Amino acid sequence: MPEKHLHPVDWNTRIPIDPNPAAGEPFLTCWSLELPDTLEYSGQVFMLPGKLEVRAERSSEGRSFWVEITFSSKASSACSRCLKETPLEIGGSFRYFYTPSADDDRQAADDEMTVAYPPDAVEVDLSEQIWESFVVSLPEKVLCRDKCAGLCPVCGADLNLGSCGCQKAAYDPRMQALKDILPDVSED
Ligand SMILES: [Zn+2]
Ligand SMILES: [Zn+2]
Repeated sequence: MPEKHLHPVDWNTRIPIDPNPAAGEPFLTCWSLELPDTLEYSGQVFMLPGKLEVRAERSSEGRSFWVEITFSSKASSACSRCLKETPLEIGGSFRYFYTPSADDDRQAADDEMTVAYPPDAVEVDLSEQIWESFVVSLPEKVLCRDKCAGLCPVCGADLNLGSCGCQKAAYDPRMQALKDILPDVSED
Protein backbone atom coordinates (compact mmCIF):
# COMPACT_ATOMS: atom_id res chain seq x y z
CA MET A 1 0.00 0.00 0.00
CA PRO A 2 1.22 3.51 -0.76
CA GLU A 3 2.06 5.86 2.06
CA LYS A 4 -0.83 7.95 3.29
CA HIS A 5 -0.57 11.60 2.39
CA LEU A 6 -3.08 14.15 3.53
CA HIS A 7 -3.98 16.59 0.85
CA PRO A 8 -2.24 19.81 1.79
CA VAL A 9 -4.47 22.24 -0.04
CA ASP A 10 -8.01 23.23 0.84
CA TRP A 11 -10.00 22.19 -2.19
CA ASN A 12 -13.61 23.11 -2.66
CA THR A 13 -14.61 19.84 -4.27
CA ARG A 14 -18.02 19.14 -2.81
CA ILE A 15 -20.95 17.84 -4.79
CA PRO A 16 -24.61 17.69 -3.75
CA ILE A 17 -25.93 14.28 -2.76
CA ASP A 18 -29.36 14.97 -4.24
CA PRO A 19 -28.58 17.09 -7.28
CA ASN A 20 -31.39 19.03 -8.80
CA PRO A 21 -30.61 19.41 -12.49
CA ALA A 22 -33.44 21.92 -12.82
CA ALA A 23 -31.56 24.15 -10.38
CA GLY A 24 -28.43 23.83 -12.48
CA GLU A 25 -26.71 21.30 -10.24
CA PRO A 26 -24.64 19.21 -12.58
CA PHE A 27 -23.83 15.53 -12.64
CA LEU A 28 -20.53 16.41 -14.23
CA THR A 29 -18.18 18.87 -12.55
CA CYS A 30 -14.70 20.00 -13.57
CA TRP A 31 -12.16 21.67 -11.33
CA SER A 32 -8.71 23.11 -11.79
CA LEU A 33 -7.10 22.53 -8.39
CA GLU A 34 -4.03 23.96 -6.71
CA LEU A 35 -1.25 21.52 -5.92
CA PRO A 36 1.66 21.91 -3.51
CA ASP A 37 4.94 22.92 -5.23
CA THR A 38 6.59 19.64 -4.32
CA LEU A 39 5.53 16.28 -2.98
CA GLU A 40 7.68 13.52 -1.54
CA TYR A 41 6.42 10.05 -2.42
CA SER A 42 8.08 6.65 -2.64
CA GLY A 43 11.45 8.17 -1.75
CA GLN A 44 11.32 10.68 -4.60
CA VAL A 45 10.62 14.38 -4.75
CA PHE A 46 8.10 15.40 -7.38
CA MET A 47 7.93 18.97 -8.62
CA LEU A 48 4.33 19.95 -9.37
CA PRO A 49 4.45 23.05 -11.55
CA GLY A 50 0.84 23.15 -12.68
CA LYS A 51 -2.67 22.49 -11.51
CA LEU A 52 -4.58 19.27 -11.14
CA GLU A 53 -7.30 19.15 -13.78
CA VAL A 54 -10.18 17.06 -12.45
CA ARG A 55 -13.43 15.86 -13.95
CA ALA A 56 -15.93 14.22 -11.61
CA GLU A 57 -19.00 12.51 -13.00
CA ARG A 58 -21.60 10.95 -10.73
CA SER A 59 -23.69 8.02 -11.87
CA SER A 60 -27.33 8.94 -11.30
CA GLU A 61 -29.84 10.22 -8.84
CA GLY A 62 -30.18 8.42 -5.55
CA ARG A 63 -28.37 8.65 -2.26
CA SER A 64 -25.93 5.88 -3.14
CA PHE A 65 -23.99 6.65 -6.27
CA TRP A 66 -20.73 6.20 -8.12
CA VAL A 67 -18.40 9.06 -8.91
CA GLU A 68 -15.82 8.65 -11.62
CA ILE A 69 -12.81 10.89 -10.93
CA THR A 70 -10.61 11.55 -13.96
CA PHE A 71 -7.56 13.77 -13.58
CA SER A 72 -4.33 14.92 -15.16
CA SER A 73 -1.38 17.09 -14.21
CA LYS A 74 2.20 17.79 -15.11
CA ALA A 75 5.04 16.83 -12.80
CA SER A 76 8.75 16.22 -12.92
CA SER A 77 11.25 14.28 -10.86
CA ALA A 78 14.86 13.16 -11.01
CA CYS A 79 15.57 9.97 -12.97
CA SER A 80 16.32 7.29 -10.37
CA ARG A 81 19.43 6.19 -12.30
CA CYS A 82 21.01 9.30 -13.85
CA LEU A 83 19.32 12.04 -11.76
CA LYS A 84 18.25 14.00 -14.83
CA GLU A 85 15.07 16.00 -14.15
CA THR A 86 12.40 14.15 -16.12
CA PRO A 87 9.00 15.57 -17.15
CA LEU A 88 6.03 13.36 -16.34
CA GLU A 89 2.38 13.33 -17.34
CA ILE A 90 0.32 12.13 -14.39
CA GLY A 91 -3.22 10.98 -15.02
CA GLY A 92 -5.82 8.36 -14.38
CA SER A 93 -9.40 7.53 -13.67
CA PHE A 94 -10.84 6.03 -10.49
CA ARG A 95 -14.38 5.16 -9.42
CA TYR A 96 -15.65 5.57 -5.87
CA PHE A 97 -18.98 4.51 -4.44
CA TYR A 98 -20.59 6.99 -2.02
CA THR A 99 -23.25 5.69 0.30
CA PRO A 100 -24.94 6.80 3.57
CA SER A 101 -23.33 5.01 6.50
CA ALA A 102 -26.71 3.52 7.52
CA ASP A 103 -27.00 1.81 4.16
CA ASP A 104 -24.62 -1.08 4.52
CA ASP A 105 -25.63 -3.05 1.43
CA ARG A 106 -22.43 -2.08 -0.29
CA GLN A 107 -20.29 -2.10 2.84
CA ALA A 108 -20.52 -5.88 2.65
CA ALA A 109 -18.31 -5.67 -0.39
CA ASP A 110 -15.74 -4.11 1.93
CA ASP A 111 -14.36 -2.19 -0.95
CA GLU A 112 -11.63 0.39 -0.47
CA MET A 113 -13.38 2.41 -3.12
CA THR A 114 -16.51 2.77 -0.96
CA VAL A 115 -16.93 6.02 0.96
CA ALA A 116 -19.60 6.21 3.66
CA TYR A 117 -21.07 9.59 4.53
CA PRO A 118 -23.37 10.63 7.42
CA PRO A 119 -27.04 9.88 6.59
CA ASP A 120 -28.05 13.53 7.15
CA ALA A 121 -25.36 14.97 4.85
CA VAL A 122 -26.47 17.08 1.89
CA GLU A 123 -23.15 17.02 0.03
CA VAL A 124 -19.99 14.92 -0.14
CA ASP A 125 -16.44 16.20 -0.31
CA LEU A 126 -14.38 14.40 -2.95
CA SER A 127 -11.04 15.94 -1.94
CA GLU A 128 -9.62 12.90 -0.10
CA GLN A 129 -10.47 10.60 -3.03
CA ILE A 130 -9.08 13.03 -5.62
CA TRP A 131 -5.85 13.38 -3.66
CA GLU A 132 -5.55 9.61 -3.11
CA SER A 133 -6.12 8.95 -6.83
CA PHE A 134 -3.47 11.49 -7.75
CA VAL A 135 -0.84 10.22 -5.30
CA VAL A 136 -1.19 6.54 -6.20
CA SER A 137 -0.78 7.50 -9.87
CA LEU A 138 2.71 8.90 -9.31
CA PRO A 139 5.38 6.51 -10.61
CA GLU A 140 7.17 4.55 -7.90
CA LYS A 141 10.38 4.73 -9.90
CA VAL A 142 11.14 7.54 -12.32
CA LEU A 143 13.25 6.75 -15.38
CA CYS A 144 14.20 9.31 -18.03
CA ARG A 145 14.00 6.51 -20.60
CA ASP A 146 13.35 2.76 -20.45
CA LYS A 147 16.99 1.83 -20.79
CA CYS A 148 18.69 4.65 -18.92
CA ALA A 149 22.31 3.61 -18.45
CA GLY A 150 22.67 5.63 -15.24
CA LEU A 151 25.81 7.20 -13.81
CA CYS A 152 29.26 5.64 -13.61
CA PRO A 153 29.69 4.54 -9.96
CA VAL A 154 33.37 5.47 -10.16
CA CYS A 155 33.51 8.92 -11.76
CA GLY A 156 29.84 9.93 -11.90
CA ALA A 157 29.76 10.41 -15.68
CA ASP A 158 26.39 10.11 -17.42
CA LEU A 159 26.74 6.77 -19.22
CA ASN A 160 23.89 7.72 -21.60
CA LEU A 161 26.43 10.04 -23.22
CA GLY A 162 28.94 7.25 -23.79
CA SER A 163 31.42 5.16 -21.84
CA CYS A 164 33.82 6.97 -19.49
CA GLY A 165 36.41 4.17 -19.60
CA CYS A 166 36.39 3.43 -15.87
CA GLN A 167 36.98 -0.15 -14.70
CA LYS A 168 33.55 -0.65 -13.17
CA ALA A 169 33.92 -4.39 -12.54
CA ALA A 170 36.48 -3.74 -9.83
CA TYR A 171 33.87 -1.69 -7.94
CA ASP A 172 30.87 -3.92 -8.58
CA PRO A 173 29.78 -5.22 -5.16
CA ARG A 174 28.17 -8.26 -6.80
CA MET A 175 31.52 -9.26 -8.25
CA GLN A 176 33.13 -8.82 -4.85
CA ALA A 177 30.48 -10.99 -3.20
CA LEU A 178 31.11 -13.69 -5.78
CA LYS A 179 34.83 -13.60 -5.07
CA ASP A 180 34.14 -13.90 -1.33
CA ILE A 181 32.00 -16.99 -1.87
CA LEU A 182 34.36 -18.58 -4.37
CA PRO A 183 37.89 -17.96 -3.08
CA ASP A 184 39.36 -20.35 -5.64
CA VAL A 185 38.30 -18.27 -8.62
CA SER A 186 41.53 -17.36 -10.27
CA GLU A 187 42.13 -13.74 -11.10
CA ASP A 188 44.23 -13.10 -14.12
ZN1 LIG B 1 18.15 8.54 -16.57
ZN1 LIG C 1 33.54 6.54 -14.96
